Amino acid sequence: MNRFVVVLLASCVLALGPVQAQETCGSSVRPEEVQDALALQASGIYDEDGIPSLGTLFVPVAFHVVRQNNGSGGLSQSRLNTAINDANLAFAGAGIGFFQCMDTDYIDSDAFYFNINTGAEIDALRRVNPVADAINVYCTPNLQYCGISSFTNSSVQGIVMLNSCMATSTNHSTFSHEIGHYFNLYHTHEGAFGQECTSGSNCSNSGDLVCDTPADPGLGTSNVNSSCVYTGGGNGPCGGDPGYSPDPRNYMSYSRKSCRNRFSSQQNSRARSTLLNLRPELLGGCTPPDLISVAPSQGELRGGDSVTLVGTNFSSNATVRFAGLVAQVDQRIGSTQIIATAPEGTTEGQDAAVSVTQPSGSDQINNAYEYLPNTPYITWNGPARAGQNITISLYGPAGDPAGLAVGVPGITVKPCCTFCLERPISFFMRPSQLTLGSNGRVDVIWNVEGDIFETKKIQGLIVTSQGPQVTNCTSLTVFP
Ligand SMILES: [Zn+2]
Repeated sequence: MNRFVVVLLASCVLALGPVQAQETCGSSVRPEEVQDALALQASGIYDEDGIPSLGTLFVPVAFHVVRQNNGSGGLSQSRLNTAINDANLAFAGAGIGFFQCMDTDYIDSDAFYFNINTGAEIDALRRVNPVADAINVYCTPNLQYCGISSFTNSSVQGIVMLNSCMATSTNHSTFSHEIGHYFNLYHTHEGAFGQECTSGSNCSNSGDLVCDTPADPGLGTSNVNSSCVYTGGGNGPCGGDPGYSPDPRNYMSYSRKSCRNRFSSQQNSRARSTLLNLRPELLGGCTPPDLISVAPSQGELRGGDSVTLVGTNFSSNATVRFAGLVAQVDQRIGSTQIIATAPEGTTEGQDAAVSVTQPSGSDQINNAYEYLPNTPYITWNGPARAGQNITISLYGPAGDPAGLAVGVPGITVKPCCTFCLERPISFFMRPSQLTLGSNGRVDVIWNVEGDIFETKKIQGLIVTSQGPQVTNCTSLTVFP
């Protein structure tokens, strides 16, 4: 019996350790930082009148994931992606967006993986591979805090996150909380500047230095219920103060992590002011892309060719354009290759510039891709359902006096497809009825008749000055 009790107690103690650690944030204001913070406050740099209409300001994030010496362990890329999404939702009201600006940096170190408890160890980690002009975020599984961040005047910069507090199914708030600190937001219960009266009379130089966040006595699971309602009561710290009425939804509180989902208007404004005035290097920061080559260097005007872009520092959200037209990105290989599909062009013979654009900048190669005349080609967009319209597109050489036909009965076309032309679909055009458009494309709208389930194969006939030419054959499945 005694042994049983002892074992149970030991389990409780072991369980309490990490649970308590996960409640806390290491980003407290140190006594030596108080005067500097108050001087910044007095300088007026936070006194913007609302959010200026500059559009969203994008901030690069450089992730560093700590793993064991042998490369095992560490946070998955999908969790990092979720964290970026969480932060983008949290800071939308501030007009701030985030993107991962380089490939994830893996730090394989047992020392940083298993034991990172002191301030010196945390600072040592934050000095590993920092990327200039980005928020450096380090993720490790054995931190004594849920997260710790730096203020603009902190001697060592960067955010360190405990893996189990980073973008989990029940915690989408800690990462944004730490970014809040990075933009000089303090805990709503911060006491380093003096206790905030619940009346708000000293709100500009006490508490969190923000006046539209109510005084906060310090929140937690003991005084915020599972419905995110404050149940703690208590009188304010100043004479004649009304009772406490803190905001359990505020990201910068210690409320339940699942409850925190908003910044106040003045917190948004303060974060944006901090970015513009105190961390302007983040804007356009991390490394812009460098596009080195594009291959192949030519393709048909109708688009659809696979093209490989090689360069450096391509970000995960880079967009590709050919002559200003957005290309579909099919695959990214690290930060050095993008495989894209050339978009349909506008002008035969055009030497198109190819560009890569991302928040940290853009790069392009002029005359990188030549649009060649189309060879006869047919395709369609669907889904093809009975009673609905589909569009069949035929391509030929641009500007060549031409006509086309689809499913022409009585004309023997190469039997590349068993059913091709066997059963004409509902339209029929003689070669003289249509002329190829300026970029060699003609769209034919076909209303799919009947109650059919059938796979047809369609083939076109392009008639040019060179004579009739048969297009490719493509399958078209019609669903009832
Ligand atoms: Zn904090």
